[in-house]
Amino acid sequence: MPASESMPLPILLPDQPPFNLRARILTPLAAGGHRFEADGLLTVDAAGRITSVGSFADTPGLGPVFDLRPWLVLPGLVDLHVHLPQVPHAGLGFGTPLLDWLRRYVFPLEHDFTEAVAEVVAPAVYRGFAAAGTTTALMYGAVYEPSLDAAFRAAEAHGIRAVIGKVMMDRLTYDETLRPSEVLDLSLRQSADLCDRWHMRDNGRLRYAFTPRFAVSCSPEMLRESAALAKAKGAYWQTHLAEDRAEIAEVARLFPGARDYLDVYDQAGGLGPRTILAHAIHLSDREVARLAESGSHLAHCPASNLFLSSGIMPLGRYLEAGVSVGLGSDVAGGPDLSLFGAMRVGGYVQNALKVATGDPRPILDPFAWLRMASFDGARSLGLEDEIGSIEAGKEADLIVVDTARTAPPAAPALDDPAEILSTLIFRSHPDMVRGAWVRGRRLDGPPG
Ligand SMILES: [Zn+2]
Repeated sequence: MPASESMPLPILLPDQPPFNLRARILTPLAAGGHRFEADGLLTVDAAGRITSVGSFADTPGLGPVFDLRPWLVLPGLVDLHVHLPQVPHAGLGFGTPLLDWLRRYVFPLEHDFTEAVAEVVAPAVYRGFAAAGTTTALMYGAVYEPSLDAAFRAAEAHGIRAVIGKVMMDRLTYDETLRPSEVLDLSLRQSADLCDRWHMRDNGRLRYAFTPRFAVSCSPEMLRESAALAKAKGAYWQTHLAEDRAEIAEVARLFPGARDYLDVYDQAGGLGPRTILAHAIHLSDREVARLAESGSHLAHCPASNLFLSSGIMPLGRYLEAGVSVGLGSDVAGGPDLSLFGAMRVGGYVQNALKVATGDPRPILDPFAWLRMASFDGARSLGLEDEIGSIEAGKEADLIVVDTARTAPPAAPALDDPAEILSTLIFRSHPDMVRGAWVRGRRLDGPPG
């Protein structure tokens, strides 16, 4: 028997655009629903833009084609909430309440996140994102300006699509060397400078998010001034909301004039379509309605919420109210950089909620979870016309997955896209993502 019949040829991946891919293709669609091509063809131009998506049989006379069959091409995933300096501590502190966990595991780590540490950690984290299938990440840094420059430089070199912000804290901080008023001025000035240096760099691949940590760590002035800066500069504003009961009680004590937790941010001028709020587990009906009305976005982090015993987000209730929700790993609150892991835990959590409460709403299917981890994340960043789905005219932010490389291995030869996706979510293997591209440029990280 010739070698070509007994051993499959190695699958070659393109490094740079332009290229043509033949593969199975699955993507949510901007207009709703999804598209699956069992034998699809995807063309990417020299600028890294998708020029066509269709079935191979319907696409005549192209040049050379990279044949990735039987692998599956998906849109690159969008992680809407993750802490870059915390990644080395992923998996530590299981079940520790939020405020204790911050003091014990997070503040010491972020305190030591110097420029030199960032230069080592950031490139490794970006490779880890790409290996997990994440091509866009909205990240928190630490408080130190040089470490943020290092994180941006590493993202510029790696090729990942990155939105990063210097953490802002003028109370409950890990840098006690400055008086609160000095911290406020310094933090605002450094954040503005970082935004000026990095926001919209490389045609918008790198962006800036003003990042007050959460209401417990910030004075009303810090919240208000950071929100004003974000609006003035057209950047994002991100913070945490209603993650933990003790945190919520502390916010009520610190902000007696606010109606509720969300109102603290509302009074600061922080709500709007460029705002991403992480967690938001424990919200009143008023807060849910106000979130939807303001067009703010939530980063749902189900693995983190269970890891830190924070609670269970009533996702169905929020979606029904029209709230925009994307998915976040929240490492190191969450132990896993993979959004396939976040989809899996999210699915389990919603099932548990349904069983425990008798919630009559239907659970989300695998397509809905994929949409939340891709298109809805892109929309939360205002990038729904650029990325988040595989459609002509969009930038080629893609991943390719070996659908047979699952755990347990040897997934059945499925041809139903819902079943294929279900195995990727519930039988994820750390090496199943074989390639990742941003604008058609291949990222370092996946095994290839
Ligand atoms: Zn967080």
